[in-house]
Amino acid sequence: MMDVIIIGAGVIGSSIARELSRYQLDICVLEKEPDVCCGTSKANSGIVHAGHDAKPGTLKARLNVLGNEMMEDTARELDIPFKRNGSVVLCFSKSETGRLELLKAQGEQNGVKGLRIITGTEMKEIEPNISDEVQALLYAPSGGIICPFELTAAMAENAFVNGTAFYFDTEVRGIEKSDAGYRVATSKGDFEGKVVINAAGVNADVFNNMVSSRKLSIVPRKGEYCLLDKKAGNFVNTTVFQLPTNLGKGVLITPTVHGNLMIGPTAENITDREDTATTAEGIAQVIDKALKSSEKVPVRQVITSFAGLRAHEKGRDFVIGEAEDAPGFINAAGIDSPGLTSAPAIGVMVAEIAAKKMKAVKKTDFQDKRKGIHFLRDMEVEAANVLIAENPAYGRVVCRCETITEGEILDAVRRPLGAKTLDGVKRRTRAGMGRCQAGFCSPRVLEILSRELDIPQEEICKSGRGSNVIADSKREE
Ligand SMILES: Cc1cc2nc3c(=O)[nH]c(=O)nc-3n(C[C@H](O)[C@H](O)[C@H](O)COP(=O)(O)OP(=O)(O)OC[C@H]3O[C@@H](n4cnc5c(N)ncnc54)[C@H](O)[C@@H]3O)c2cc1C
Repeated sequence: MMDVIIIGAGVIGSSIARELSRYQLDICVLEKEPDVCCGTSKANSGIVHAGHDAKPGTLKARLNVLGNEMMEDTARELDIPFKRNGSVVLCFSKSETGRLELLKAQGEQNGVKGLRIITGTEMKEIEPNISDEVQALLYAPSGGIICPFELTAAMAENAFVNGTAFYFDTEVRGIEKSDAGYRVATSKGDFEGKVVINAAGVNADVFNNMVSSRKLSIVPRKGEYCLLDKKAGNFVNTTVFQLPTNLGKGVLITPTVHGNLMIGPTAENITDREDTATTAEGIAQVIDKALKSSEKVPVRQVITSFAGLRAHEKGRDFVIGEAEDAPGFINAAGIDSPGLTSAPAIGVMVAEIAAKKMKAVKKTDFQDKRKGIHFLRDMEVEAANVLIAENPAYGRVVCRCETITEGEILDAVRRPLGAKTLDGVKRRTRAGMGRCQAGFCSPRVLEILSRELDIPQEEICKSGRGSNVIADSKREE
């Protein structure tokens, strides 16, 4: 019997797990995929939004601004990169400047600090490459960028070190009320918990609707992107938005925290909750819209494309709290954008609800700090030489595009909740994220994983079940 069962190891489930692991509670996380961050949390813009887009008075508005404020400390404690690069919203016609004013007023009502509308030559001082068609822009100095994988993995790792159990490849199939709380049926057998927290992303409505008569309805809203080479990484300084549309924040151009450039996303309501395929039309739309912000976007530098699914709930706000007619069942549902930004704040909010319910007491030995992977490429030559002398694995470069050595890969595999798949290594270290998109380093990473995990290479997957990289004639599909 667990005190708390969390469904889903995305950024929301992981943040809740981290915050709840401050309390004396038996907690487990059930995740259908083989690793953390395999759902929406792996495929988004990585923007820490300033908070001017959400309607005042909503949970989105409050938790966005709070999450944004918390991100610096969160990143410091978890030893992950975060940059407050600021953001701008472009307006292309004089008749639309009123919408910028409204966005500014809305942001101020939400508590966003430092918002300014800028016109004239100052616009190009902030963003030299924006189109000459831009008439005015809204500047938000508190906007930022973060790596969503690192944030999620670091939160989960910290929760794990503080006692939370993670069960991967464990798909939740049913939930029913039991005497002590809830029985959760999974692909790996039943789990029983006094409290269940639903952080299942695009599937969160399914679980809510199993126990509550207040039905939720999530529509997956697909967003497609292009990622550009690091050569293009300095094309913009801030995150460059256009005025929002009725489907979201529109197509942006942004640097990533690791120095690439990204353009996207589209916004298309779909029915298939697994459909993260990119399409020729989607990519064409992304490029077309990005070129409106700047006709100089170096689209020839695109190295890959990807898509993610927003968990858009029909009520248009986050659904957070205990379901009224299902005591002990706590939702963190409908967490579409700005869910990544809000994650630290949602973690605290949900953990407080659950801890209060359980009358839980805080631990005195909670470890709030986590040591991240230290990268040779970020070190001074002297320090790098010392490290290589101590551990020659740091002298063997495995991923040439990103200069990732065997040392960092071993760290990613051996650390708590370490990587078990090619994508797990890629997301923790960036081996395979560069220009050649893993063409060069995959065989070597495969060898290292096989050796470290003591399993044949044929059994190593790219990501989920069935994504084995090497064909095995004896394997049953
Ligand atoms: C295109 C796009 C752009 C975005 N850009 C931004 C941005 O720039 N800034 C921002 O703040 N937000 C952004 N967001 C929103 C943000 O990505 C999400 O709010 C956030 O990642 C949601 O996290 P989550 O943990 O709720 O969902 P997920 O990451 O999807 O996690 C849910 C987890 O539940 C698991 N799960 C599902 N069903 C089951 C089951 N039956 N059994 C066990 N496990 C299950 C899944 O495998 C998954 O790991 C964007 C979203 C999209 C799609």
